[in-house]
Amino acid sequence: MSFHPILFLYELLEKIIIFLFSPRRPSEVKQNGPHVAIIGTGLTGVSAAAHCVGHGCTVTMFEARSEESVGGIWARVNQTSGLQIHSIMYRFHPAVSFKEGYPKQKEIVSQIRAVWKDYNLDKCTRFDTKVKSVRRMGRQWIVNENYEEMFDGIVAAVGTCGDPKMPKMEGMDKFEGKVVHSSQLDGVDVEGKNIAIIGGGASAIEALEYVAAKGAKKSNILSRVKLLFLPRLRKRMMRLLIITYSPTNGLYLVILWLTCCSRSTSLGTKFIFRGSPSDSSVCFSTVI
Ligand SMILES: Cc1cc2nc3c(=O)[nH]c(=O)nc-3n(C[C@H](O)[C@H](O)[C@H](O)COP(=O)(O)OP(=O)(O)OC[C@H]3O[C@@H](n4cnc5c(N)ncnc54)[C@H](O)[C@@H]3O)c2cc1C
Repeated sequence: MSFHPILFLYELLEKIIIFLFSPRRPSEVKQNGPHVAIIGTGLTGVSAAAHCVGHGCTVTMFEARSEESVGGIWARVNQTSGLQIHSIMYRFHPAVSFKEGYPKQKEIVSQIRAVWKDYNLDKCTRFDTKVKSVRRMGRQWIVNENYEEMFDGIVAAVGTCGDPKMPKMEGMDKFEGKVVHSSQLDGVDVEGKNIAIIGGGASAIEALEYVAAKGAKKSNILSRVKLLFLPRLRKRMMRLLIITYSPTNGLYLVILWLTCCSRSTSLGTKFIFRGSPSDSSVCFSTVI
C-alpha cells in the first residue's frame, strides 16, 4: 500500500488520542469504586460503562434484548445503513477507529462490540433483562424491585429508537404490492420494480440508495415538504462549496444545485411532494 502523508498524520493523531484520552482498561484499575447500573448496550451504554470501569467503578449492564443486540439500534438496522455524518464526528469512545468516512452498519457495530469486550463488559452484562423500575432508597438505587442489590448510580442509555412502527395509511390494505419498513430492507427484491418511498428523511435517502443499487425500474420519493438533497460530497466538491459558501453567493448556490441534481439523476429518482404511490409495486415506508 502506498504511503499517504495526510492519512499517516491522521492515524498518528488517532493513536495519540487513544493513548491520552482512553479510559484505563480493567487490568490497570482496581474495581473498588461505586457500583453503577447501566441500562442499555447501545453505543451510549457501552461508552458510559467503559468510562465507569476506567474510573474504578463496578458496572452492571442491563439489556432488554439478547446478546446479538450489543450495539443497540445499529445491531437492528439494514446492513446497507450507514452514518449520515462523517465518522470523524462520531467518536463515542477515544479508542474508536473507523476505516470509512461514512461507515456502514457492520463497521459501527464491530467498533461498539470491540469496546464492550475490551473493558470486560461482556462479563457484567445481563441480557434479556428489561429494566421496568428504578427506585431510590436513601443514597442508593434499586433496579426491578430487587432489594438484594443496591447501586450507587444509574445511567439510563435506552436510546430513542424502539421497534419499527408501520404507519397506517388510508387504502394501504388495497395496495397490491409489498409494503416494507425502511429498517427492513435487507434482501428485499426490487429489481425491475416501481418503487415509492414515503417520507423524506435520512432513511428515505438510504432506501433510495438501496433501490438504485438493486436495479429498481423507477423510484419516486413522496414527501410532505421540499427536500434539500445533499450528497455525501467528494472532497473536491466539498472544498468548492466551502470556498464559495454564502447563502447569498450565486456561485455557491449553482454548485449546490448541480451537486444535488447530479446525485438525484444518478440515483434515477423523481421527487413528488404530497403525491400518492398509486403506480408502485413496492412501497417503502420511512415513517417511524
Ligand atoms: C440508520 C441510522 C443512522 C443513524 N445515523 C446517525 C448519525 O449519522 N449520527 C448520529 O449521531 N446518530 C445517528 N443515528 C442515531 C443513533 O440512534 C445514535 O447514533 C446511537 O446509535 C444511539 O445509541 P444509544 O446507545 O443511545 O441507543 P440505542 O442504540 O437505541 O441503544 C439502546 C439500548 O437500550 C436497550 N434498552 C431499551 N430500553 C431498555 C430497558 N428498559 N431495559 C434494558 N435495556 C433497554 C435497547 O434494547 C438497546 O439495546 C442513526 C440511527 C440509525 C438507525
